[in-house]
Amino acid sequence: MTAAVAALVRERGGSVALSEITVRDPGPDEILVRVMASGVCATDLFGIAGGAGDRFPAVFGHEGAGVVEAVGAGVTALSPGDHVVLSFDSCGACASCAAGHPAYCARFAELNYAPRSDAEVAGEAATTGWMSQSSWSTHVVARESNAVRIDDDVPWEVAATLGCGILTGAGAVITVLRPGPDDTLLVIGAGTTGLAAVMAARHRGVRRIIVTDPLDERRRLALDLGADEARGPDAPAVTDVSCVLDTVGTQETVALGLSALAPRGVCATVALRAGANPVTISQSQLLWGRTLTGVIEGDADVHRDIPMLAALWRAGRMPIERLVTGYAFDDIDTAVADARAGRTIKPVARIGEAVVPAGAPPAATPITGIRDADLALLWRSLPPVSPGELVGLWRGTGLSLDHPIQRQLERSGWFGKLFRSVDDVAPIVCTDETGGLVADARLAGGGATVRTVRHDGLDTAAMLYDTRPVIDLFTRLGPDTLLGVMTGPGTEVRGRRYHFVLERVPDRPVRVAD
Ligand SMILES: [Zn+2]
Ligand SMILES: [Zn+2]
Repeated sequence: MTAAVAALVRERGGSVALSEITVRDPGPDEILVRVMASGVCATDLFGIAGGAGDRFPAVFGHEGAGVVEAVGAGVTALSPGDHVVLSFDSCGACASCAAGHPAYCARFAELNYAPRSDAEVAGEAATTGWMSQSSWSTHVVARESNAVRIDDDVPWEVAATLGCGILTGAGAVITVLRPGPDDTLLVIGAGTTGLAAVMAARHRGVRRIIVTDPLDERRRLALDLGADEARGPDAPAVTDVSCVLDTVGTQETVALGLSALAPRGVCATVALRAGANPVTISQSQLLWGRTLTGVIEGDADVHRDIPMLAALWRAGRMPIERLVTGYAFDDIDTAVADARAGRTIKPVARIGEAVVPAGAPPAATPITGIRDADLALLWRSLPPVSPGELVGLWRGTGLSLDHPIQRQLERSGWFGKLFRSVDDVAPIVCTDETGGLVADARLAGGGATVRTVRHDGLDTAAMLYDTRPVIDLFTRLGPDTLLGVMTGPGTEVRGRRYHFVLERVPDRPVRVAD
């Protein structure tokens, strides 16, 4: 048993007040976490209002981040001292989990909302297990499966947001809607999920990002974070966009989203509302190839996507601090009241003693400065490329600087790649003694072709060498830049693949070596 302090809600709709509790020891597949910070999310307000049933006295909070204090006998991936983000739990065994979509786990409701009791207050059981954590507490029991290890450089106030709100908005964009440079995105509601969607869409180079929100201040922040246009409730209706993210989930916003879509467009709705929440939609609008879909938790695989979000934060591409307002733990009732009144976007309670408020967000890192371990995560978060888009001359820059392939390419005087067509590629173009360009077919073992290939869940343009079992795959980093990864036997060193940037340059003569 561990003595702890938790924010307790004693009755439906009641206030949130700190109480001394005792927390039980972790079971075989569980961990004990010393919570450092926890967000306040709309789902907590839903629970306090009794939306998840009469479970009082109860501890809420489901955006926890902290340090592992103890692990059960069956825990293998985590150790005491690890920094973890707590997120939703899943069974790992049902059809959705097996297919890589744990947010649609058959046991989601049971694992994340069923009342359980890991804590006692004055000898009486308090209901915990809220999203398998109840993180408004100095110590909580979580399962190994809903705790994700992250590096120590992520400030607690940022880490705490990665488990639900940011995951939902960024995941809806990166995993579900997947817009790219040819798309327009309408985001309805500029709360945490809406603004996370704006940041993720900006990261992916989405052509036009439009945000609607009734609050002036939120519209201004949306523009600051990369929206092209922010509209109030009286603005004329948006039309002809390819993607919509509805973060509100009412009759009005679902209808608004569907009406805004161009034919074949997709509208995703993410808000959790009480009961069945019936809405009426126009079947005639749907006929035009339009899709309306729901999304839970950004369709995330938390063990893949939370480290990805940390990598995007680290690269300056998700300045999450901009959404956060910190509160002392004993002021959590104010944090909840402010969340309810819409006075803050993402309130975060500083629960651990040594929580230092997050400093300025990292500046956008030039791509060459992104650390090796983050490159694969970054690659996957970007939009795919079609084979035809590769045609032209590209200058290459290695990113995996301590990879042996980097040294090989440097020795050869590597310049880049020339795609004459998708069937005629010079995979290795080098600079010769006179400064001219030469296609080195000997080093490349011949030429290459470009086809669409699936890698890490993305179907994207890939360069296949004629005579080597090596495939380079590309995602779009910017209008004229691609992020490349080399795959194939022997290309992986210490678990790391070779990554590089290709930058489009004006055509110039390339001699073919004989
Ligand atoms: Zn499952
Ligand atoms: Zn949430």
